[in-house]
Amino acid sequence: MSAADLSASAVLPGQGALGVLGGGQLGRMFVHAAQTHGYRVVVLEPDAASPAGAAADAHLRAPYADAKALAELAAACVAITTEFENVPADALRTLATQRRVSPPADAVQVCQHRAREKAAFAAADVPCAPHAVIDSAEAAVSAALAPLLPGILKTASLGYDGKGQVTVMSLADLPAAWRALGGVPCVLEQRLPLQLEISVIVARGADGQVVHLPVQQNLHRGGILAVTQVPAPEVPAATAEQAVALAGRLAQALDYVGVLCVEFFVLQDGRLVANEMAPRPHNSGHYSIDACDVSQFDLQLRTLAGLPLVAPRLHSAAVMLNLLGDLWFPAAAAASEPVTPVTPDWAGVLALPGAHLHLYGKHEARRGRKMGHLTITAPDAAAARATALRAAAVLGLPAF
Ligand code: ADP
Ligand code: MG
Repeated sequence: MSAADLSASAVLPGQGALGVLGGGQLGRMFVHAAQTHGYRVVVLEPDAASPAGAAADAHLRAPYADAKALAELAAACVAITTEFENVPADALRTLATQRRVSPPADAVQVCQHRAREKAAFAAADVPCAPHAVIDSAEAAVSAALAPLLPGILKTASLGYDGKGQVTVMSLADLPAAWRALGGVPCVLEQRLPLQLEISVIVARGADGQVVHLPVQQNLHRGGILAVTQVPAPEVPAATAEQAVALAGRLAQALDYVGVLCVEFFVLQDGRLVANEMAPRPHNSGHYSIDACDVSQFDLQLRTLAGLPLVAPRLHSAAVMLNLLGDLWFPAAAAASEPVTPVTPDWAGVLALPGAHLHLYGKHEARRGRKMGHLTITAPDAAAARATALRAAAVLGLPAF
């Protein structure tokens, strides 16, 4: 079947089943959005106990590249998406010969590799950090790298939540840093003077129409997203508009169909620099479930099923707090001691106005593990922030 045939007709609500590669929380929230619209959802995920598998109508338990499972998924579903950017791109290609698939395999493959990602930024005329590819011991000793230092050495693939990264201060430290990352292909990026971090979520339909969520301001702690605020309190309107335009341009350049999140740095001089992108809904967009009339998961559904794309409207100000497994281990317990997890004070949090608690159904709390998120909605940004600070205090999270 040609791509044109596959995208010609919409899969209307309630018509057939949709498939998802990946079983994490992003898949779970997609399942919820799709089921709300009357679709059945089939999840392909090797893990027996997964957030999306538990919510889905059916769970195919097999590796993402398993030919038999992919055939089964294609037979069971009219359209298929992914919630995980490291799913083998060839699995998406195989599925796309038979079914409507979004996002496209080629775009996912670009997002899986930092060097390809940066090349895509350049091709779309989107500014990114000065960088060089380090893929051999020889490349790690080049004097030409001096202008990139101090820099951040990042593994080209499979890095997330600050994992697979080291700061490099001098040329002399570079070979050891590269070996410490396993001697795998890496990208060395100049460490930039950040003022703040933002992200933009766009959705592009098969017909090229693009809509976007409002710009999100993100605070990371220890390399992991901690707080997202919308409207972005410190971002000038012109910067926000520019970020939206750049993200839309990237989606177009990639001939993208689906939800794409682009993370940007706002530098101290106000310039915007693209950091990385994700070919899927993003942690920084979770607030949209409770604060927008169309969420990022609704957008994923609409682009996948070929339903109308309507520009989302932010109806409430929102602050999202990520709930990591650390919350189950209150500060008093030393990190090294085995401790019994303690359920956080959910009742205290839910007593606050505009509190929306999302837990992903993960059975075991571990430090650094994303267990859920809390979105506080309010009529204005000041009220959302004030309540979110109270929620943070209840949970023992730092103020922001
Ligand atoms: P991950 O895939 O782990 O999210 P990122 O590339 O987004 O990796 O890096 C994680 C965080 O590290 C960023 O959100 C930012 O705070 C910081 N960081 C990354 N690259 C740079 C850079 N070039 N200059 C300054 N800070 C950076
Ligand atoms: Mg990041």
